[in-house]
Amino acid sequence: MGLELKIENIDNNLQNAKWPILISGPCSAESEQQMLSTAIQLAETGKVSYFRAGLWKPRTRPGAFEGVGAKGLEWLKKVREVTGLKISTEVARAEHVELCLEAGLDMIWIGARTTTNPFSIQEVADALRGTDIPVLVKNPLNPDFQLWIGALERINRAGVKKLGAIHRGFSNYDEKVFRNSPMWDIPIELKRQCPEIPIITDPSHITGKRELVPFISQKALDLNMDGLMIESHINPDIAWSDNAQQVTPAALAQIIKELVLRKNEGDNPAFKTQLEKLRLEIDQYDNDIIKIISARMNVAAKIGQYKRDNEVTILQMNRWEQILNQRVALGEAMGLSNSFMKRMLQLVHQESIRIQTDIMNA
Ligand code: PEP
Ligand code: MN
Repeated sequence: MGLELKIENIDNNLQNAKWPILISGPCSAESEQQMLSTAIQLAETGKVSYFRAGLWKPRTRPGAFEGVGAKGLEWLKKVREVTGLKISTEVARAEHVELCLEAGLDMIWIGARTTTNPFSIQEVADALRGTDIPVLVKNPLNPDFQLWIGALERINRAGVKKLGAIHRGFSNYDEKVFRNSPMWDIPIELKRQCPEIPIITDPSHITGKRELVPFISQKALDLNMDGLMIESHINPDIAWSDNAQQVTPAALAQIIKELVLRKNEGDNPAFKTQLEKLRLEIDQYDNDIIKIISARMNVAAKIGQYKRDNEVTILQMNRWEQILNQRVALGEAMGLSNSFMKRMLQLVHQESIRIQTDIMNA
C-alpha cells in the first residue's frame, strides 16, 4: 500500500527559511523558574522557534518523576508571553490533547512509546478531529517503519494536515554507542515515500549523551532533514529526567554556531542517494570499530587487574611479538598494508599499556 498523506506546511515562514526548524527546551517542565530562565536564553540565540517541555512523562519504571502535568501549561504560556517563542509539549491521551487545545499551544508531539500503540494513536487522532494544531509524530521505539507510517496516517485521516515526523532513533539491544540507534535508512525511506513531510531529527534521544549531540545534528543536516529537536536545561546536571543528554542554552548557541549548512552537493539525485548510502555504511563501520576497540580496552583493563593481583609485569615481549606478527599477516591477507597494520596495532597496544599502567599505579 502506497503512502498517501495530505500535508500542509507546519509553518510557512519556517519551512521557507534558510535555517532548519529548531525546537529546544527541557526534557521535563520542573518549575516556572526553570522554564523561564531556559527559554529566555534560548530566545536570545535567535534561532530557536519552538520551546519544548514534557508535562506528562512516560517513564519506564513506576516511581520515577512522571511530570508536573497540566499546571505546566500555565508555565508554557508564560514562556510564550515573555520570550515570544512558540510553545509545545508531548501528548499521549485524549485528555492531554484537550488540555493543550484549551491552553492554545502552538504545536504538540506524540512520543515514541505512544506511536508504538495504535489504540493510543487512534485516541489522540480522534481528539484532534476538527482542529488545525500542528502535530509531530515521533518514530516508534522499535524499528518498524509501517508502525510510524500507520500513526502518521491515523493522525492525517483525522484531518490534521500540518503534520511532521520526529526521528529519535530506535531501541536496539546491540547498540552501545548511542542510546537509540539512528538507523538513518528509515527516515530516508519516509522522505522518499513522502517528500512533503518535514522530518525533525532529535539528536538528544538518539545519542543520550550531550557530547554526541553536535555530531548527530550535523549528520541530520547533511542528510537534508528539516529540523532539530534538542533538549536544553538551564542546569542539565540536576535535571529531573534525561540529565546526561541535555545541553545548556549557551552550549546550544555554540552548537548552532558550529553547524554547517551545506548546499546540496551535485544536482544528480541518483548520485546523491548512492553517496548517502555509502556514507551511512562508513558511519556504521566506524561505530562498530569504536565499539570493538572499547570492548577490547575493557578486556585489557581486566587483564591489568589480574596481573596486578598476581604481581606479574605488564609488558611481555614475546606475547606482543606474537600478536604483531599474527595480526599483520591476517591484515595483509585481507588487503590491508603491512605498514598500516603495524601502526594501527602499535596505537592500540600503547593504549592498552596506558590503561594497565594506570591500574598498576592506582
Ligand atoms: C521526550 O521528548 O522527552 C521523550 C519522552 O522522547 P521519546 O518519546 O522520543 O522517548
Ligand atoms: Mn527526554
